[in-house]
Amino acid sequence: MPASEFDIIERFFRQGQTRRDDVVLGIGDDAAELRVAPGQQVVADMGLLIEGRDFQLADPPASLGHRALALALARLAARGAEPAWATLALTLPEADESWLKDFSEGLLSLARRYGMQLVGGDTTHGPAALTLHCHGLVPEGHLVPADGAAPGDLIYVVGRLGASGLAILALAEEVRLSRSAREAALAQLYLPEPPLPAAPVLQGLATACLPVAEGLPAALETMTSGHGGGATVHVEQLPISDALHEVFDRAGGWNLPLYSAEPCALCVTVPADRQQALEQGLAGASCEFAWVGNVESTPGVRCL
Ligand code: ADP
Ligand code: MG
Repeated sequence: MPASEFDIIERFFRQGQTRRDDVVLGIGDDAAELRVAPGQQVVADMGLLIEGRDFQLADPPASLGHRALALALARLAARGAEPAWATLALTLPEADESWLKDFSEGLLSLARRYGMQLVGGDTTHGPAALTLHCHGLVPEGHLVPADGAAPGDLIYVVGRLGASGLAILALAEEVRLSRSAREAALAQLYLPEPPLPAAPVLQGLATACLPVAEGLPAALETMTSGHGGGATVHVEQLPISDALHEVFDRAGGWNLPLYSAEPCALCVTVPADRQQALEQGLAGASCEFAWVGNVESTPGVRCL
Protein backbone atom coordinates (compact mmCIF):
# COMPACT_ATOMS: atom_id res chain seq x y z
CA MET A 1 0.00 0.00 0.00
CA PRO A 2 1.47 3.47 -0.91
CA ALA A 3 2.61 5.69 1.98
CA SER A 4 -0.18 8.19 1.35
CA GLU A 5 -2.79 5.49 1.95
CA PHE A 6 -1.07 4.40 5.12
CA ASP A 7 -1.22 8.04 6.19
CA ILE A 8 -4.94 8.19 5.37
CA ILE A 9 -5.65 5.14 7.55
CA GLU A 10 -3.61 6.65 10.37
CA ARG A 11 -5.43 9.99 10.18
CA PHE A 12 -8.96 8.91 9.44
CA PHE A 13 -9.33 5.46 10.95
CA ARG A 14 -6.84 5.20 13.84
CA GLN A 15 -6.83 8.58 15.51
CA GLY A 16 -9.66 9.85 17.69
CA GLN A 17 -10.91 6.38 18.53
CA THR A 18 -12.13 4.75 21.71
CA ARG A 19 -9.25 2.77 23.25
CA ARG A 20 -10.59 -0.43 24.75
CA ASP A 21 -8.65 -2.33 27.42
CA ASP A 22 -9.34 -5.62 25.66
CA VAL A 23 -7.57 -4.51 22.44
CA VAL A 24 -3.95 -5.67 22.77
CA LEU A 25 -3.09 -4.69 19.17
CA GLY A 26 -5.32 -2.58 16.97
CA ILE A 27 -4.82 -0.73 13.69
CA GLY A 28 -1.19 -0.60 12.57
CA ASP A 29 -0.24 -4.22 12.97
CA ASP A 30 -0.71 -7.05 10.50
CA ALA A 31 -3.55 -8.47 12.54
CA ALA A 32 -5.44 -7.29 15.61
CA GLU A 33 -5.10 -9.04 18.97
CA LEU A 34 -8.24 -9.03 21.12
CA ARG A 35 -8.85 -10.33 24.63
CA VAL A 36 -12.11 -12.03 25.59
CA ALA A 37 -12.92 -12.04 29.33
CA PRO A 38 -13.75 -15.43 30.91
CA GLY A 39 -17.48 -16.15 30.76
CA GLN A 40 -18.01 -13.99 27.66
CA GLN A 41 -18.84 -15.19 24.16
CA VAL A 42 -18.06 -13.37 20.90
CA VAL A 43 -20.91 -12.68 18.47
CA ALA A 44 -19.60 -12.02 14.93
CA ASP A 45 -21.60 -10.15 12.29
CA MET A 46 -20.66 -9.22 8.73
CA GLY A 47 -22.40 -6.73 6.45
CA LEU A 48 -21.53 -6.05 2.79
CA LEU A 49 -22.61 -2.86 1.00
CA ILE A 50 -22.06 -2.52 -2.76
CA GLU A 51 -22.17 0.73 -4.70
CA GLY A 52 -25.13 0.98 -7.08
CA ARG A 53 -27.12 -1.52 -5.05
CA ASP A 54 -26.84 -0.49 -1.40
CA PHE A 55 -25.42 3.04 -1.72
CA GLN A 56 -24.18 5.62 -4.25
CA LEU A 57 -20.74 7.25 -4.12
CA ALA A 58 -22.61 10.57 -4.43
CA ASP A 59 -24.53 9.90 -1.18
CA PRO A 60 -23.30 11.85 1.87
CA PRO A 61 -20.35 9.71 3.05
CA ALA A 62 -20.88 10.50 6.75
CA SER A 63 -24.35 8.97 6.65
CA LEU A 64 -23.02 5.92 4.79
CA GLY A 65 -20.45 5.34 7.54
CA HIS A 66 -23.07 5.83 10.24
CA ARG A 67 -25.68 3.67 8.53
CA ALA A 68 -23.33 0.76 7.77
CA LEU A 69 -22.39 0.55 11.44
CA ALA A 70 -25.93 1.18 12.74
CA LEU A 71 -27.32 -1.78 10.74
CA ALA A 72 -24.60 -4.06 12.12
CA LEU A 73 -25.18 -2.82 15.67
CA ALA A 74 -28.91 -3.55 15.33
CA ARG A 75 -28.06 -7.14 14.38
CA LEU A 76 -25.75 -7.44 17.42
CA ALA A 77 -28.44 -5.93 19.67
CA ALA A 78 -30.90 -8.57 18.41
CA ARG A 79 -28.54 -11.27 19.70
CA GLY A 80 -28.38 -9.47 23.07
CA ALA A 81 -24.73 -8.58 22.43
CA GLU A 82 -22.89 -5.42 23.43
CA PRO A 83 -20.60 -4.06 20.69
CA ALA A 84 -16.84 -4.35 21.11
CA TRP A 85 -14.70 -4.38 17.93
CA ALA A 86 -15.01 -3.84 14.19
CA THR A 87 -12.87 -4.42 11.11
CA LEU A 88 -13.50 -2.71 7.79
CA ALA A 89 -12.67 -3.75 4.21
CA LEU A 90 -12.99 -0.76 1.91
CA THR A 91 -12.66 -0.76 -1.87
CA LEU A 92 -12.74 2.64 -3.61
CA PRO A 93 -12.05 3.70 -7.21
CA GLU A 94 -9.74 6.42 -5.86
CA ALA A 95 -8.49 7.63 -2.49
CA ASP A 96 -10.71 10.71 -2.16
CA GLU A 97 -9.54 12.33 1.09
CA SER A 98 -12.64 14.38 1.81
CA TRP A 99 -14.90 11.38 1.17
CA LEU A 100 -12.78 9.21 3.49
CA LYS A 101 -12.68 11.90 6.17
CA ASP A 102 -16.49 12.26 6.25
CA PHE A 103 -17.11 8.52 5.95
CA SER A 104 -14.78 7.68 8.85
CA GLU A 105 -16.24 10.47 10.98
CA GLY A 106 -19.76 9.10 10.45
CA LEU A 107 -18.64 5.60 11.33
CA LEU A 108 -16.30 6.42 14.22
CA SER A 109 -18.56 8.93 15.94
CA LEU A 110 -21.24 6.26 16.27
CA ALA A 111 -18.61 3.69 17.34
CA ARG A 112 -17.31 6.08 20.02
CA ARG A 113 -20.77 6.59 21.48
CA TYR A 114 -21.08 2.84 22.12
CA GLY A 115 -17.47 2.25 23.23
CA MET A 116 -16.59 0.24 20.13
CA GLN A 117 -13.12 0.21 18.54
CA LEU A 118 -12.15 -0.21 14.87
CA VAL A 119 -9.19 -2.59 15.15
CA GLY A 120 -8.16 -3.21 11.55
CA GLY A 121 -9.18 -3.71 7.98
CA ASP A 122 -7.94 -3.55 4.42
CA THR A 123 -8.13 -0.83 1.80
CA THR A 124 -7.86 -1.40 -1.96
CA HIS A 125 -8.63 0.22 -5.30
CA GLY A 126 -11.59 -1.10 -7.26
CA PRO A 127 -15.35 -0.77 -7.65
CA ALA A 128 -16.74 0.88 -4.49
CA ALA A 129 -17.82 -1.58 -1.78
CA LEU A 130 -17.48 -1.89 1.95
CA THR A 131 -17.55 -4.87 4.25
CA LEU A 132 -17.93 -4.20 7.94
CA HIS A 133 -17.25 -7.04 10.35
CA CYS A 134 -18.56 -6.28 13.85
CA HIS A 135 -17.94 -8.26 17.00
CA GLY A 136 -20.04 -8.06 20.14
CA LEU A 137 -19.88 -9.74 23.54
CA VAL A 138 -22.57 -11.61 25.40
CA PRO A 139 -22.31 -13.59 28.67
CA GLU A 140 -22.07 -17.32 27.96
CA GLY A 141 -25.51 -18.92 27.59
CA HIS A 142 -27.32 -15.58 27.22
CA LEU A 143 -27.28 -15.19 23.44
CA VAL A 144 -30.76 -14.49 22.05
CA PRO A 145 -31.52 -16.83 19.13
CA ALA A 146 -33.08 -15.63 15.86
CA ASP A 147 -35.60 -18.49 15.65
CA GLY A 148 -36.55 -19.52 19.20
CA ALA A 149 -40.11 -18.12 19.36
CA ALA A 150 -42.52 -20.72 20.82
CA PRO A 151 -46.34 -20.92 20.68
CA GLY A 152 -47.78 -18.82 23.52
CA ASP A 153 -45.02 -16.18 23.33
CA LEU A 154 -45.98 -12.52 23.03
CA ILE A 155 -44.63 -10.40 20.18
CA TYR A 156 -43.21 -6.93 20.76
CA VAL A 157 -41.74 -4.24 18.52
CA VAL A 158 -38.93 -2.13 19.99
CA GLY A 159 -38.75 1.26 18.26
CA ARG A 160 -41.22 2.58 15.71
CA LEU A 161 -42.03 1.46 12.17
CA GLY A 162 -42.59 3.13 8.83
CA ALA A 163 -40.26 6.16 8.74
CA SER A 164 -37.58 4.57 6.52
CA GLY A 165 -40.22 3.33 4.08
CA LEU A 166 -41.81 6.76 4.08
CA ALA A 167 -38.43 8.38 3.33
CA ILE A 168 -38.04 6.12 0.29
CA LEU A 169 -41.51 7.13 -0.94
CA ALA A 170 -40.66 10.81 -0.37
CA LEU A 171 -37.35 10.51 -2.25
CA ALA A 172 -39.21 8.92 -5.18
CA GLU A 173 -41.70 11.83 -4.94
CA GLU A 174 -44.56 9.41 -4.42
CA VAL A 175 -45.73 11.32 -1.32
CA ARG A 176 -45.31 14.95 -0.35
CA LEU A 177 -44.43 15.61 3.30
CA SER A 178 -44.21 18.70 5.45
CA ARG A 179 -40.63 19.84 5.94
CA SER A 180 -40.38 18.52 9.49
CA ALA A 181 -41.86 15.12 8.59
CA ARG A 182 -39.53 14.82 5.59
CA GLU A 183 -36.49 15.63 7.75
CA ALA A 184 -37.53 13.12 10.41
CA ALA A 185 -38.14 10.37 7.83
CA LEU A 186 -34.82 10.98 6.04
CA ALA A 187 -32.97 11.01 9.37
CA GLN A 188 -34.42 7.58 10.17
CA LEU A 189 -33.31 6.27 6.76
CA TYR A 190 -29.80 7.77 6.72
CA LEU A 191 -28.89 8.22 10.41
CA PRO A 192 -30.86 5.59 12.33
CA GLU A 193 -30.08 5.05 16.01
CA PRO A 194 -29.23 1.39 16.71
CA PRO A 195 -31.40 -0.20 19.44
CA LEU A 196 -28.42 -1.05 21.66
CA PRO A 197 -29.98 -0.03 24.99
CA ALA A 198 -32.37 -2.97 24.48
CA ALA A 199 -29.55 -5.55 24.15
CA PRO A 200 -28.85 -6.26 27.85
CA VAL A 201 -32.59 -6.38 28.56
CA LEU A 202 -33.16 -9.09 25.93
CA GLN A 203 -30.50 -11.40 27.42
CA GLY A 204 -32.17 -14.23 29.27
CA LEU A 205 -35.69 -12.88 28.57
CA ALA A 206 -36.34 -12.96 24.81
CA THR A 207 -36.89 -16.30 23.06
CA ALA A 208 -36.12 -14.74 19.65
CA CYS A 209 -35.24 -11.37 18.16
CA LEU A 210 -34.52 -9.90 14.72
CA PRO A 211 -34.18 -6.42 13.28
CA VAL A 212 -37.14 -5.48 11.03
CA ALA A 213 -34.83 -5.56 8.00
CA GLU A 214 -37.42 -6.80 5.48
CA GLY A 215 -40.73 -6.02 7.16
CA LEU A 216 -42.39 -7.56 10.21
CA PRO A 217 -43.97 -10.69 8.61
CA ALA A 218 -40.59 -11.75 7.16
CA ALA A 219 -38.93 -11.35 10.57
CA LEU A 220 -41.69 -13.41 12.23
CA GLU A 221 -41.42 -16.17 9.60
CA THR A 222 -37.81 -16.68 10.67
CA MET A 223 -38.41 -16.16 14.37
CA THR A 224 -41.15 -18.83 14.52
CA SER A 225 -39.37 -21.31 12.23
CA GLY A 226 -37.46 -23.08 15.02
CA HIS A 227 -40.61 -24.48 16.69
CA GLY A 228 -42.69 -24.88 13.52
CA GLY A 229 -45.27 -22.34 14.72
CA GLY A 230 -46.63 -19.11 13.30
CA ALA A 231 -47.84 -15.71 14.41
CA THR A 232 -50.79 -13.35 14.46
CA VAL A 233 -50.04 -9.62 14.22
CA HIS A 234 -52.69 -7.08 15.32
CA VAL A 235 -51.81 -4.46 12.73
CA GLU A 236 -53.49 -1.55 14.52
CA GLN A 237 -51.13 -2.12 17.48
CA LEU A 238 -48.03 -1.36 15.36
CA PRO A 239 -46.06 1.58 16.80
CA ILE A 240 -45.73 4.05 13.92
CA SER A 241 -43.37 6.97 13.48
CA ASP A 242 -44.68 10.50 14.00
CA ALA A 243 -43.69 11.42 10.43
CA LEU A 244 -46.14 8.83 9.13
CA HIS A 245 -49.21 10.16 11.00
CA GLU A 246 -49.82 13.16 8.76
CA VAL A 247 -49.80 11.18 5.50
CA PHE A 248 -50.97 7.82 6.84
CA ASP A 249 -53.70 7.14 4.23
CA ARG A 250 -51.83 8.63 1.27
CA ALA A 251 -48.73 6.56 2.15
CA GLY A 252 -50.63 3.26 1.99
CA GLY A 253 -52.08 3.00 5.52
CA TRP A 254 -50.92 0.03 7.59
CA ASN A 255 -49.10 -1.59 4.65
CA LEU A 256 -46.13 0.73 5.05
CA PRO A 257 -45.32 0.06 8.74
CA LEU A 258 -46.18 -3.61 8.30
CA TYR A 259 -44.16 -4.46 5.19
CA SER A 260 -41.42 -1.84 4.85
CA ALA A 261 -37.94 -2.25 6.30
CA GLU A 262 -36.98 -0.47 9.52
CA PRO A 263 -33.63 -2.11 10.25
CA CYS A 264 -33.01 -0.33 13.57
CA ALA A 265 -36.36 -1.48 15.02
CA LEU A 266 -36.46 -4.94 16.64
CA CYS A 267 -39.11 -7.64 16.67
CA VAL A 268 -38.92 -9.55 19.99
CA THR A 269 -40.75 -12.56 21.40
CA VAL A 270 -41.09 -13.35 25.10
CA PRO A 271 -42.95 -16.03 27.09
CA ALA A 272 -45.97 -14.74 29.04
CA ASP A 273 -44.26 -15.30 32.41
CA ARG A 274 -41.41 -12.96 31.42
CA GLN A 275 -43.64 -10.30 29.84
CA GLN A 276 -43.53 -8.00 32.86
CA ALA A 277 -39.76 -8.30 33.23
CA LEU A 278 -39.30 -7.44 29.55
CA GLU A 279 -41.61 -4.42 29.73
CA GLN A 280 -39.95 -3.15 32.91
CA GLY A 281 -36.46 -3.69 31.50
CA LEU A 282 -37.22 -1.91 28.23
CA ALA A 283 -38.90 0.99 30.03
CA GLY A 284 -35.90 1.21 32.39
CA ALA A 285 -33.59 1.36 29.36
CA SER A 286 -35.75 4.18 27.86
CA CYS A 287 -36.69 2.01 24.85
CA GLU A 288 -40.03 2.59 23.11
CA PHE A 289 -41.91 -0.69 22.72
CA ALA A 290 -45.35 -2.05 21.90
CA TRP A 291 -47.10 -5.42 22.08
CA VAL A 292 -48.23 -6.33 18.53
CA GLY A 293 -49.37 -9.96 18.58
CA ASN A 294 -48.89 -13.59 19.61
CA VAL A 295 -46.95 -16.66 18.56
CA GLU A 296 -49.22 -19.63 17.80
CA SER A 297 -48.86 -23.27 16.86
CA THR A 298 -50.47 -22.74 13.41
CA PRO A 299 -47.69 -22.05 10.86
CA GLY A 300 -47.73 -18.84 8.80
CA VAL A 301 -48.02 -15.16 9.70
CA ARG A 302 -51.56 -13.71 9.89
CA CYS A 303 -52.07 -9.93 9.91
CA LEU A 304 -55.40 -8.82 11.40
P1 ADP B 1 -1.69 -5.41 5.35
O1 ADP B 1 -0.33 -5.24 4.76
O2 ADP B 1 -1.76 -6.41 6.45
O3 ADP B 1 -2.78 -5.55 4.33
P2 ADP B 1 -2.25 -2.69 5.38
O4 ADP B 1 -0.94 -2.07 5.02
O5 ADP B 1 -3.29 -2.87 4.36
O6 ADP B 1 -1.94 -4.05 6.09
O7 ADP B 1 -2.89 -1.88 6.57
C1 ADP B 1 -2.10 -1.37 7.63
C2 ADP B 1 -2.92 -1.35 8.89
O8 ADP B 1 -4.10 -0.57 8.69
C3 ADP B 1 -3.40 -2.72 9.34
O9 ADP B 1 -3.41 -2.73 10.75
C4 ADP B 1 -4.82 -2.79 8.84
O10 ADP B 1 -5.60 -3.64 9.68
C5 ADP B 1 -5.25 -1.35 8.94
N1 ADP B 1 -6.27 -0.99 7.94
C6 ADP B 1 -6.17 -1.02 6.60
N2 ADP B 1 -7.29 -0.58 6.02
C7 ADP B 1 -8.15 -0.26 7.02
C8 ADP B 1 -9.48 0.25 7.08
N3 ADP B 1 -10.18 0.52 5.98
N4 ADP B 1 -10.03 0.43 8.30
C9 ADP B 1 -9.34 0.14 9.41
N5 ADP B 1 -8.09 -0.31 9.44
C10 ADP B 1 -7.50 -0.53 8.25
MG1 MG C 1 -3.76 -4.11 2.88
